[in-house]
Amino acid sequence: MTESAIRGTCHCGTVEVVLGAFPPTITECNCSLCRRYGVLWAYVEADQVLELPDPGLTDAYAWNGRNVDFLRCRDCGCITHWVPRKKGRTLRGINARIFDPELVAQSKRIFRDGANK
Ligand SMILES: [Zn+2]
Repeated sequence: MTESAIRGTCHCGTVEVVLGAFPPTITECNCSLCRRYGVLWAYVEADQVLELPDPGLTDAYAWNGRNVDFLRCRDCGCITHWVPRKKGRTLRGINARIFDPELVAQSKRIFRDGANK
């Protein structure tokens, strides 16, 4: 784990996500949504998410069971993160691609076969 605040932003810089630590693994998923987004997910516990953007800065999309909202910058359209709708759920998904590529390269990339689940 990397210590101290780690900042990632969308392309235009409007939407910022700040993490306390970057996870040791990031996930590439081939489900119908993730493959279109082209994202890599950094799954983190809520207590490691130091800052999330004001909800007014993002638009949301939900599908399937509508368990999570996928959020994107209202201005540049980059997917930045998802948040669960259920209160008790502590995991968050942050798009690893919004962070420094050199940092992301230090995490092990794992593949999730979401298309066949
Ligand atoms: Zn933006």
